[in-house]
Amino acid sequence: MADLIIMKSDATKKEISQVVKKIEKLGFKPHISKGTERTIIGIIGDTRGISDELFRIMPGVSEVISVLKEYKLASREFHQSDTIIDVNGVKIGEGYFVVMAGPCSVESKEQLYKTAKHVKEKGAKILRGAVFKPRTSPYSFLGLGTEGLKIVKEVKEKLNILVITEVMSTEEVEIVSEVSDILQIGTRNMFNYRLLERVGKINKPVLLKRNFSAKISEFLNCAEYILKEGNNKVILCERGIRTFDSEFTRNLLDLSAIPLLKKETHLPVVVDPSHGTGRSDLVIPMSKAAISAGADGLLIEVHPKPEEALSDGFQSLNFEMFDNLMKEIIPLVKFMKKKM
Ligand code: PEP
Ligand code: MN
Repeated sequence: MADLIIMKSDATKKEISQVVKKIEKLGFKPHISKGTERTIIGIIGDTRGISDELFRIMPGVSEVISVLKEYKLASREFHQSDTIIDVNGVKIGEGYFVVMAGPCSVESKEQLYKTAKHVKEKGAKILRGAVFKPRTSPYSFLGLGTEGLKIVKEVKEKLNILVITEVMSTEEVEIVSEVSDILQIGTRNMFNYRLLERVGKINKPVLLKRNFSAKISEFLNCAEYILKEGNNKVILCERGIRTFDSEFTRNLLDLSAIPLLKKETHLPVVVDPSHGTGRSDLVIPMSKAAISAGADGLLIEVHPKPEEALSDGFQSLNFEMFDNLMKEIIPLVKFMKKKM
């Protein structure tokens, strides 16, 4: 089985293109990564029938590696160094720490502006806020839609802050990409393969949330759906999973997923303790736990008046709580040797 062709450091352009042509001739898609030292060519598809000998004998080839995992582009085997994603100047990935904060839903210009101004002043680099809302009940508040998108654009431009907002369907990808710096794919859509492929075709960072009942391998395979289309800017987000006990918490925040994902994949891992617990009083301790476990960032729900929020008020921090969160995490982020 052949998955990765490692070229010699002095391989010529011609030798690289011969390998690429051979991959295409076999009916597969090549994925070329040019490092500073050498070029690595990945073979995308079901490679079980390809013998490594086919490539090992070619000029310029140093090594042929088989990746036993189903997810290849997402795996550490394929890409050993950590992926750092530059979101219009803000770096996300190992060595950095980013706070994304804002309301669950965009409710009005005033609400978003007020929240954005506050979280920015306290150190959040990215404003969150959904306008297309996936809700359990179709009778709940489903977001302001395209009107909300206009608000996001206005606030973003006024305050010069980056934004992340959710995209629920393939039809929304284009309009959301025009405004949002990062596209969020929610827990319910993690398994929406057509949507994953669609966002894989654009050149924009995607934050993929773990489905509430997805295994780690399923999560990584879904990231692979995006990567295989050519978009390598994928950020993973642990947001809690379902267990037998929902008496006191909404979900169980899977903290072990953080070091585990960091081991399995080169992609950045951020944590959402708001949905992960469903309770504002648990957000600070679980944020600290996530940072200690190696998270590269946090996604936090903040509302000027959580008691009046149209969605997820119970888990949203008010401004004072957000200030306390920032105060408590800054020394911890420093201790973990991450730049904020
Ligand atoms: C959200 O971030 O507001 C959200 C709906 O998250 P999730 O998809 O994780 O439930
Ligand atoms: Mn929410």
